[in-house]
Amino acid sequence: MKVRYFDHAATTKVKKEVLDEMLPYFSEKYGNPSSLYSIGRMSKKAIEEARKKVSNLIGCQPNEIYFTGCGSESDNTAIKGIAYANYQKGRHIITSQIEHPAVLHTCQSLEKQGFKVTYLKVDKQGFISLEELQNSIRNDTILISIMFANNEIGTIQPIEMIAKIARMHNIIFHTDAVQACGNIPINVKNMGIDSLSLSGHKLYAPKGIGAFYMKNGIPFEKFIDGGHQEKNKRAGTENVAGIVGLGKACEIARINLESYMKHLQELRDYFIKQVTEKIEGSLLNGTIENRLPGNANFSFPSVDGEALLLNLDAKGICASAGSACTSGSSKPSHVLTAIGLPSNLAHSSLRVTFGEDNTKEDVDYLVQSLLEVIEKLKK
Ligand SMILES: *Cc1c(COP(=O)(O)O)cnc(C)c1O
Repeated sequence: MKVRYFDHAATTKVKKEVLDEMLPYFSEKYGNPSSLYSIGRMSKKAIEEARKKVSNLIGCQPNEIYFTGCGSESDNTAIKGIAYANYQKGRHIITSQIEHPAVLHTCQSLEKQGFKVTYLKVDKQGFISLEELQNSIRNDTILISIMFANNEIGTIQPIEMIAKIARMHNIIFHTDAVQACGNIPINVKNMGIDSLSLSGHKLYAPKGIGAFYMKNGIPFEKFIDGGHQEKNKRAGTENVAGIVGLGKACEIARINLESYMKHLQELRDYFIKQVTEKIEGSLLNGTIENRLPGNANFSFPSVDGEALLLNLDAKGICASAGSACTSGSSKPSHVLTAIGLPSNLAHSSLRVTFGEDNTKEDVDYLVQSLLEVIEKLKK
């Protein structure tokens, strides 16, 4: 059966051009970038080329980009690094209730180490309140970390306004942009962002490679101790092939951004329209404006989300549910809970995230399958 993939917020496949560019760094160009002989220098050069390409996608200097092992490591390094370096100045951090676990659990870990964290609420559509942000700022607030765009419901926060508030109070602003990078335009300089996390496998590069941007001059402490790689900020022999892949993926994302966004938006809007018209009682979670171009999230009252996924899987469809059913206990998603969905609606939700290979015909098949499965499950 043909597999139809609608889970690009979970991961994406490696693009052919990306893989092609990576392959030599597994074989003939295997030198350690720290070595002085020619195949070592070749690796070093490839890393610096990739750094430029990543920096071009988000509008910073190449020497403000640091490579890591994943998006989670980027979040940990940026947040903990800033927190530790500013420990004497203050110990208060502001974030939101709907962050990815890589940020939420990092903040919880810092709480155990004596930091205080404010978790901002969000409204029904998933937006933080700028007023509540203002009111949460204290004399000892050192860091604001608010995600650029949410991975479950696609809500894009008013990043420039948040950055402005942070700047007014001399507070460092970090954003988890793992879902935003490659999907919407980002310019850290114009937007006033001090630090940003991104991940390869969400933008057609491989899993196991990430990066973060840290504005030059921001005090931060390294998180992984060891050798002098990444300007002494992240030890460990570099994942050269992964870095090259991330660079290529960022270059392609920058060149194609406009047409890619348009493609995703067309599929998303077509899907939302079809579902709203054809599936009685369906409820769109999140917002219409300021939503990631490829994200749709619906609740289907009195339909069990897990059963829905399994039945869709039987039809070759890959999508995602709003409940994290790790370890058997299915807890409703903290994001859907934060936007005020009762547990039964959170448990009947479905996230669909589109990507470059999806077509309108795929959407037709998806909608038809949804109709059939929901009818069956409601019986
Ligand atoms: C996927 C994701 C991460 C984690 O990235 P990994 O590379 O999988 O560690 C962090 N934040 C958001 C918003 C994500 O979607």
